[in-house]
Amino acid sequence: MPRPLEALIHIDALHHNLERARECAPDARIWAVVKAGGYGHGLKRIFEGLRAADGFALLDIAEAQKLRDMAWRGPILLLEGVFEARDLEWCSRLGLWHVVHCDEQIDWLAAHKTEWPHRVFLKMNTGMNRLGFTPHAFRSAWARLSALSQVDEVSLMTHFSDADGPKGIDHQLKTFQTHSADLSGERSLCNSAGILRHAANPDVRGDWIRPGVMLYGASPDYPEHDAAYWRLQPAMTLRTKIIGIQHIEAGDTVGYGSAFTASKPMRIGILACGYADGYPRNAPEGTPVLVGGERAPIIGRVSMDMINADLSHLPHAVIGTEVTLWGQGPEHKGLATQLPIDEVAHHCGTIGYELMCALSKRVSILTVNPHQG
Ligand SMILES: *Cc1c(COP(=O)(O)O)cnc(C)c1O
Repeated sequence: MPRPLEALIHIDALHHNLERARECAPDARIWAVVKAGGYGHGLKRIFEGLRAADGFALLDIAEAQKLRDMAWRGPILLLEGVFEARDLEWCSRLGLWHVVHCDEQIDWLAAHKTEWPHRVFLKMNTGMNRLGFTPHAFRSAWARLSALSQVDEVSLMTHFSDADGPKGIDHQLKTFQTHSADLSGERSLCNSAGILRHAANPDVRGDWIRPGVMLYGASPDYPEHDAAYWRLQPAMTLRTKIIGIQHIEAGDTVGYGSAFTASKPMRIGILACGYADGYPRNAPEGTPVLVGGERAPIIGRVSMDMINADLSHLPHAVIGTEVTLWGQGPEHKGLATQLPIDEVAHHCGTIGYELMCALSKRVSILTVNPHQG
């Protein structure tokens, strides 16, 4: 029997979350952001759940090729554009749309020979200070691109640094609007936090929204709001089983470095999951897991292949009992259970995004497709 650790990808949750994005911006088209192999879910699996999107946005030409191999003929956007002139050949061949964020990318386009002109998204740096033209250089970049025979339509985009927090988007929105007001082209501004928190404003929605993490059922602004608040459903469950049980006495320690010392007699469960699976090694004591749908705290250090949990309050938990590390748990007393990935991440000082992307190769992944029962 294989190790009992597996990730489940819930296709119905992907459908649902995509619909949530549509509800927030019904008049906009949706770039489903699927970089990093669909945030760790696997490009092929998420394609099944998100094919109702208007386009797919990612970074990597190899991933774009995979989407074309899966017979996706709709738009694909390279969010960082091309990394060298030669990449433009691939854009022509695969019909990729690409972001243009620096002069070099315009130089490469000007020298590129292509039968079909490219659709590009010109990026303004409105304060994030990663990629994009400064507001003052934006207009001349737009004019230069628009004049190229290699370019079909120029769309305008920017990216918010604080859509999830108290600083908000107003300062960036104003910069974007001021410096693009009279330029023609479709607009794209919002990531998940922008969509959920700010897209009631049509100027913020624009023509294309770019949801990422919300499609996978995590909240972009946890702990202020959790996924349930935003009515998102977890698309990934990581689950395993109890593979060992120890009864320990007061004064006994658990795991490497004797990092946990019992102050009373305890019953400890050993779970088949560790940092080599992508579970964070820095998860502190008290990080929750669901044992048969009931919460239990982890204790001691996370090791490469195992985690320890306190089962003292769960006498029914035995070897073979199902344990949920995050996502959708088994029914308990007739009710569905959940352990939000954001909550686990918060304990570990990180965000749900990182945990889902970090799922390691050795974890087998199953697709749960409701249509196949
Ligand atoms: C990753 C990314 C997104 C999606 O962000 P989420 O916070 O996951 O919704 C949107 N736009 C750009 C440019 C990105 O790089």
